[in-house]
Amino acid sequence: MIFNKIHPRYIALDLGTTSTLIYLEGQGVVVNEPSVIAVNERGQIEALGHAAKKMLGRTPPNIRAIRPMEDGVITDYETAELMLKALLRQALKGASVVKPRALCCVPSGITEVEKRAVRDSVKNAGVREIYMIEELIAAAVGMQLPIEESTGSIVVDVGGGTTEVAVMSLGGVVVSESQKIGGNVMDQAVDRYLRSHYNIFVGEQICEQIKMQIGSAVPLEEEETFAVKGRNMLNGTPITVNVSSTEIRDALRECIMGVIGAVRTTLEKTPPELASDIVSAGINMTGGGSLLKRLDDAITQETNLLVHRAASPLTTIIEGLGMILGDFRRYRKLFNLYPT
Ligand code: ADP
Ligand code: MG
Repeated sequence: MIFNKIHPRYIALDLGTTSTLIYLEGQGVVVNEPSVIAVNERGQIEALGHAAKKMLGRTPPNIRAIRPMEDGVITDYETAELMLKALLRQALKGASVVKPRALCCVPSGITEVEKRAVRDSVKNAGVREIYMIEELIAAAVGMQLPIEESTGSIVVDVGGGTTEVAVMSLGGVVVSESQKIGGNVMDQAVDRYLRSHYNIFVGEQICEQIKMQIGSAVPLEEEETFAVKGRNMLNGTPITVNVSSTEIRDALRECIMGVIGAVRTTLEKTPPELASDIVSAGINMTGGGSLLKRLDDAITQETNLLVHRAASPLTTIIEGLGMILGDFRRYRKLFNLYPT
């Protein structure tokens, strides 16, 4: 145990569009930071994670704040590697002289080229061997679903860039679906609404705050308002407008229908035996986007299925990965995991 604390042999990695989480064997989740890095002209790191996210849209010309991940995959290879290296250093606190092995989750529909990008950046960041596992399998383990059994289970993960849906049974994914609709698209929808209805320009992070604070998928018991401070697009002066949750719901409608559409498409592709299991067990929902108020109720209204939200949707996957590492010998066999 002491040995693990100093030299974790295994780590788990959830490299998300929005945030990156690192779990150390014997210690738990030690890194949970936005997937953002700020670098200067010479390619040196100016800020990482939370500090770098604060810089988005505020950097002077000599600094760039970058999100190296988009829609669940690496889009900026070099920066991703730099970010991972720094986060790994932060996680291991220089304690490890031996490179650890990593269990890393990837989206179900990922291409071989995208997989290679993950493998190369993770390895170059300081990992000896990497085991890749489908993200929604890790989520299902994190939510303690009976995926080893022959019964069908469905997981919906509403992330930053995408919504991923999968039906699983006997330890594997039977059908899956990925749509480029997630929290970011919701933020953009809020932004578009504010521009077109109020000529007000506020920036990405305020739009996210508005969504989290008053956004909802179906009417709230008590509708709320948000005092939005921004810049008038017509004359550049600062203005404040009061926006209601009803308006934000309108703005988000299309995104919500997209999420529901992804669930529907998956159910249509699901073999009838498994579909009937899902009818009795309901839908399991996770990912940061699942925290949108009453998204569970909207899905129930449209599908007639019960929806269970994960207890902590932002950490379900890393917790699942941690549980898999905790009984790795068994899970490795069950999920056919091989190091690369
Ligand atoms: P990823 O796996 O893609 O990194 P996450 O599962 O971490 O994504 O989810 C991030 C998304 O969740 C962001 O778009 C964020 O705005 C959204 N989110 C977080 N909390 C809430 C909330 N309370 N209400 C609505 N959306 C939320
Ligand atoms: Mg995720």
